[in-house]
Amino acid sequence: MTGLALVDHHVHGILTGELDAAAIEYGLMESTAPPPPGTTAFDTQLGFAVRRWCAPVLDLEPLAPADDYVRRRLELGSTEAARRFLTAAAVDLWLIDTGYQTDAVTTPAEFVTLSGTRSLEVIRLESVAARLVQSGVTAAEYAGAVASAVHDAAASAVGFKTVAAYRGGLALDPARPAPAEVANAADRWLREIDAGAPARLKDQILIRHGIWAALDTGLPLQFHTGFGDTDSRLARSDPALLHDFLLASQPTGTPVMLLHCYPYHRQAAALANLFPHVYMDVGEALNHVGARSAAVLAEALELTPFHKMLYSSDAFGLPELHYLGAVGFRRDIATVTSAFVTDRLWSAADASRVADMIGSVNAQRVYKLGAS
Ligand SMILES: [Zn+2]
Repeated sequence: MTGLALVDHHVHGILTGELDAAAIEYGLMESTAPPPPGTTAFDTQLGFAVRRWCAPVLDLEPLAPADDYVRRRLELGSTEAARRFLTAAAVDLWLIDTGYQTDAVTTPAEFVTLSGTRSLEVIRLESVAARLVQSGVTAAEYAGAVASAVHDAAASAVGFKTVAAYRGGLALDPARPAPAEVANAADRWLREIDAGAPARLKDQILIRHGIWAALDTGLPLQFHTGFGDTDSRLARSDPALLHDFLLASQPTGTPVMLLHCYPYHRQAAALANLFPHVYMDVGEALNHVGARSAAVLAEALELTPFHKMLYSSDAFGLPELHYLGAVGFRRDIATVTSAFVTDRLWSAADASRVADMIGSVNAQRVYKLGAS
């Protein structure tokens, strides 16, 4: 399945400028703190996977030592490394989340130039709200202003993303907040900003207002779940906490995309099985678990209906991650499904059809990419 078509339905840009050795190593970590003295982030499943699979793209032997890898990457420079990895990924379409560290990473246009592959945009709801409160909107205007900004964004974006998991967790009150509640909450937030607080949305009523505004558009709504950085509380990122919200949102029919999910990928699989509007991926995890990635993919495929799983890399910062995600998924889906075929549990034709569904067909259908 080396030529398997892929739509990467959740991905970010790469860091701009020349990266030094520390920045390259930092790019392998979700932690915001440096590794303990005398250790390296290359001594992880992800670090080993970079040495195994990325080294040959830089003309090194597979499993080249980490120091040699970094030396060669610095010698080639960030632009040449990015060009090599992003083109070798051979992804057919990127759906780029433009709301995280926007000033530090490539724009979608720059990313398209480097990769030679087209992209579409996914809009982060909390960024829309933060922009509006800095633009002079009043508390009384806030609810309508968010709704119309989200509605307008839906004309060019293919989906929305929420980081509710990072801003209080996923045990959301499932109800759509009333207009008076939103106005009161907006008033509180505007006063905090006036008093010098950063425009960072964490009020639960306003987060829910954004989520319901996005559901109204009918475009897929992505939720960060599971493994993230230290800002996210892991136990509050379990997608199973969304159960009541999923019951409440089911009548809208708007697709809800559970991103990453690990180590709760089995919970996400159960939700995707139960709710007709719920989809999931194990992007990000497959890169980080390295040599165990086929096992994690197989676990996710225990209960997720095959029309409910999508491919993503969740790559951010280092183009190695965009490459590893793509080649790793093609390898893992072949490994997992060929074992079923060998055991005569699946036909070869079904294995190939399921790989196509997860690789690109499901994304084409759910994000309605045929019309874009
Ligand atoms: Zn992401």
